Amino acid sequence: EGTLLRAARVNLAGEVRARYEEGFDPSPKPSKIISLVEKAAKRLNAERILGVGISISGFVDTINGIDIYSPILGWENVDLAEPLEDRLDLPVHLENDVNALTLAEHWHGAGADYRNFVCMTVGEGVGAGVVVDGSLYRGAFGGAGEVGHMMIDPSGPKCRCGENGCLDVFASDQYLRREATRLAYADIDRMEQAARAGDAQAIDVFEKMGYYLGIGAKNLVNLLNPQAIVLGGERMEASDLFSPAFEAEVREHSFAEAAKDLEIVPALLGEDGFLIGAATIVAAEFFRLPTERTLG
Ligand SMILES: [Zn+2]
Repeated sequence: EGTLLRAARVNLAGEVRARYEEGFDPSPKPSKIISLVEKAAKRLNAERILGVGISISGFVDTINGIDIYSPILGWENVDLAEPLEDRLDLPVHLENDVNALTLAEHWHGAGADYRNFVCMTVGEGVGAGVVVDGSLYRGAFGGAGEVGHMMIDPSGPKCRCGENGCLDVFASDQYLRREATRLAYADIDRMEQAARAGDAQAIDVFEKMGYYLGIGAKNLVNLLNPQAIVLGGERMEASDLFSPAFEAEVREHSFAEAAKDLEIVPALLGEDGFLIGAATIVAAEFFRLPTERTLG
């Protein structure tokens, strides 16, 4: 099964004006992706754009435009920004996918009204983007928000990062696939259908996922005291099955004052948020005073 590079030309209002998609094989060589991005930028009219933003899974050095570690792509220390800037003669910014989505929701979506919020995503992994005082919190060099590897149970099953009992192990598609196999469903979709049809075991799988996601969120709420949690990601299509348990865990068991007025809202931009967020970084850097620029 391959993966898709999705590209779009986005205007300053955060609206998608044109799209380009092309598939690639799993574990691609960086040179393959660099050519694909170059091709996409040219197809999308590179002479009229301010720059290229790339949102990518994994641990990203946003200052130097380097993908430090991406288990999904099988990459370590891949320099994407510099070779692309040379080829396109445009500024190129690299950002972690969930951080990009968080920026998109902050500028143009469900996070627009909050100066302090956490955007949590559920899909192949669990991710989080953190907005503090109106700015994305990137950490020392862009690696903040890896909530999927927050440890939930030190004696839990092994995570693909090498540690044990990470949130990813309990509340992502990896978890759902494991449970689908255990309960002899062909895939996650079948298990989801069974849950909606009232199958108690299938319902329990999604409720457990909500419970563990809630534990992760609760830790973030106690640490950061956000105004809101924006919940997004590909697996939101099953949110009716896991959200009630998620909300119950966050609200009932957070340190009381931190969760008192907490709002829990769905993300508004869907998967386009990854594209709009990548473009938002280009716009943000373009309009930033040169003395305040933090990205390469
Ligand atoms: Zn992990």
